Amino acid sequence: MWYVASLDDIRAGRVTDVYFRRAVEVLRAKDADKPVVMEVTAASLPEGYAFGVLAGVEEMVEVLSGRAVDVWSAAEGSVFLPGEPVVRLSGRWCDFGELETAMLGVLCHGTGVATKAARCRVAAGERSLLSFGARRAHPALAPSIERSAYVGGCDGVSVVASAEALGIPPSGTMPHALILLAGSTETALVWFDEVIPPDVRRVALIDTFEDEKFAALAAAETLGDHLFAVRLDTPGSRRGDFHALAAEVRWELDLRGYGHVQIVVSGGLDEADILRMNDVVDGYGIGTAISDAPVVNFGMDIVEIDGQPITKRGKKSGVKQTWVCWECGARETLPDAAGPSPCPCGADRTPFLEPLLSAGEIISPLPSIHDLRTFCLGQVSDHLRLTPSADFR
Ligand SMILES: [Zn+2]
Repeated sequence: MWYVASLDDIRAGRVTDVYFRRAVEVLRAKDADKPVVMEVTAASLPEGYAFGVLAGVEEMVEVLSGRAVDVWSAAEGSVFLPGEPVVRLSGRWCDFGELETAMLGVLCHGTGVATKAARCRVAAGERSLLSFGARRAHPALAPSIERSAYVGGCDGVSVVASAEALGIPPSGTMPHALILLAGSTETALVWFDEVIPPDVRRVALIDTFEDEKFAALAAAETLGDHLFAVRLDTPGSRRGDFHALAAEVRWELDLRGYGHVQIVVSGGLDEADILRMNDVVDGYGIGTAISDAPVVNFGMDIVEIDGQPITKRGKKSGVKQTWVCWECGARETLPDAAGPSPCPCGADRTPFLEPLLSAGEIISPLPSIHDLRTFCLGQVSDHLRLTPSADFR
């Protein structure tokens, strides 16, 4: 038995909390279904986060496709803050209410991964950032997880199927298994260099048998100009001061004329580790921190019934729109009926929510994944530039 729901199961409302199904049964029996507007909002973010990065919109479209519901959404890759609606749905509740479980699932999960990837990207600056964490999650989810990681700012992903879905080459180095089976790091490197096409970068894993410093020098001597990087995946039991270890490798490589050999690190690292390692590291493979990132706890709430504002305790009623000024960074969430208003700085503001689905049909084609990633990186850097107090840590 393989415990993965199909898209058909999800669209049919079978991946729903049963209380939604019972609510539909009651409302239909009492002829009490009504037109509602619902909003998806995060009341807070994971501890220490100053912003979120929205992801999962394309999969949300798949879930809602064909349902009698109009949807407005912020673009995938958008920076958002707590309290700002990122999605608005309008229709009769019984036509789409049971999909809340699945909709929030794709948004909460995708956004958690994309936000963590963005935090790692901000920490890493221009250094390379690869998603290596597929092995820490269910394999059926790998393409979804790595898509969100890519939107959030990873340069590449390690899983073949994920990379195919993204239309990019998969990224990777060599496993310890190759070195163990070849018998030595040098033999593995020579074999790799002989067999693997030359457009694949040669990255030597240097923590299998020997001390990293001597293994790095041996790898550089073995492959010379062919060696692109050495990768330190040093186990925790041997790690000690990982920064000092990488700095020592950098020093010895430079001293012997191997300044072209980059240093890549991996193994249980997160954005705080990236900040500590940046001065001696050229690239990162980030695993669990991204693939098992804290989810963003979006809620989905009715804010209007039959055109009248109403909501539960603890929420703001009425349909809302967030206006973003990319001149000064000011953001304001207002009643939607208030319409656009200029920013106090005098510049025009951009509406956060744009029409996405009309009666379950997509209004305009979704942007390419590469455009979404570029949009995300621009949003994050604009947000940090305009609100320097938003320390992402
Ligand atoms: Zn402004």
